Order: sequence, then structure tokens, then C-alpha cells
Amino acid sequence: MRIDLHCHSTASDGTDTPAELVRNAAAAGLDVVALTDHDTTRGYAEAIAALPSGLTLVTGAELSCRIDGVGMHMLAYLFDPEEPALLAERELVRDDRVPRARAMVAKLNALGVPVTWEQVARIAGEGSVGRPHVAAALVELGVVPTVSDAFTRDWLADGGRAHAEKHETDPFEAIRLVKGAGGVTVFAHPAAGKRGRTVPESAIAELAAAGLDGIEVDHMDHDADTRERLRALAKDLGLLVTGSSDYHGSRKTCELGEYTTDPEVYGEITRRATGAFPVPGAGGA
Ligand SMILES: [Zn+2]
Ligand SMILES: [Zn+2]
Repeated sequence: MRIDLHCHSTASDGTDTPAELVRNAAAAGLDVVALTDHDTTRGYAEAIAALPSGLTLVTGAELSCRIDGVGMHMLAYLFDPEEPALLAERELVRDDRVPRARAMVAKLNALGVPVTWEQVARIAGEGSVGRPHVAAALVELGVVPTVSDAFTRDWLADGGRAHAEKHETDPFEAIRLVKGAGGVTVFAHPAAGKRGRTVPESAIAELAAAGLDGIEVDHMDHDADTRERLRALAKDLGLLVTGSSDYHGSRKTCELGEYTTDPEVYGEITRRATGAFPVPGAGGA
């Protein structure tokens, strides 16, 4: 059984529509795929309508969080998308995406980069605008060779010259809200240092004590040593270990199913969740 628990669609900053994503997941030989767009659940209906038979969809989201000034992402699975408190928090975070992207454009202009808001909005298209769209504009302009090169301290990484703060959820609050909506939480790419400063292990221990369910260990931004260290930490703290592609379509370099999650861990996630059930494919449209 091949399980990929972290994928983005055009509902946020991926390049596949939700329907394309589930078709591509089936074509890649996956049995289970999670749709985890940034701070939104609006891709669910299209993904479910298009879900091929033989593929199971795990509904989720990747929540934008911040702890002690350090940005971090919290994957949330199988929560009730209508639960009002978590819904209100997602909306608060999402409404801030446009002002924040505009602030980054202004900072880039001040650094002499001729990026425009219109360019970033065009790249974002129907998706909720985010940092990867600003990064893609920098690639278009030839300022950096790849999107990854834009996620450095020189440009858009946390604390970088053109980075702008946004409203982000306190992760302890995120854990409380997701649990309140019947969901399960997994700290996404906790040691992805290229994106900026990372959260210390002591904070991961505090999050575990507050009810965090797991950490994403097998991820393209973690090298072999980092994975080994995180696996040991998860064992110490009694956390689940996941692996996933963090697929963004053609915008980033990781393929669907390049990293996967152990079926036993997946089973445990589905047992803990009470807000929603995995959706089995019915053939799709
Ligand atoms: Zn992330
Ligand atoms: Zn992601």
C-alpha cells in the first residue's frame, strides 16, 4: 500500500487542479493521497468528484503557524471542515495572504527587483496567493534560477530581505482547534532549514505534550542524518512518523509518492480521527 499524505493543488499553491491531482496520484500508483492545501479545504469537492476507484482520499490542510517568531507548518488530517472555530482561524490566516504578498512585492521593489503585483496575481491564478507565487515571479524575471533559490535569507525565507510577516496560528492553538474538530496533527517538515529558522527540539517536545500526533520525517528538505535524528526524537516523544512528497505539481521538484507513509501509521491516523473519514474512490468524473 502506497500512501502520500501531503499534496497541494491549485486550491493553494500547487499547479494541478484537485481533479488532476487525484488522477495523477492514481497514475503514480498511490493507494492513498492526502489533499493538504494551505489554510483551505476548498479543493475537497472537486477532488472527491474526480476520485478514481482504487484511490482513497484523506482530506486535510496545511496550517500556517508561528512559534517564538519561527514560522512552521502543521498538517491537519480528517477534521470536520465545517467546525466553526477551526474554520474561523483558517479564514483569518487566508485573508492575510494578499496583504502579505503585496508587502513582499513592495520589499522586492525597494531592493530594485521590478516585480509587480499583477505578475504575482497572474501566476497565482485561481489559487490563494502565497510566497511560492512571489518566488515564481523571481524565477520569471531571472533574479534566481529556481523557486528553491528564492527561499533563502537573501530573498523570501523567514527573516529574509523581502520576507513579510503574516498572521499565523500559535501551534498549541492549532493542535487544540484541530482536535476540537476531530482531526489529527502532524508537524510538517520540522527541520527544513532552507526555508528559514527551524523550531528547536525542546519546542517539539512541548507540542508533543500538548497533543501533537506526529512529525513528518521523510521529506525532500531533510537529509539522511536529519531523518535519523527526527526518527529518534519521535520515538522518544511517542510521536507518529510520516513521509510524504509535499507535491506542488510542476512548481517544485518532488514527484507524487516519492516519499510515503507506513500503512500502520496511516491506520493509526484514521483510528484517531473523528471529524471525517477517508473517502474511497468511486470511479470519478
Ligand atoms: Zn509546508
Ligand atoms: Zn506543503
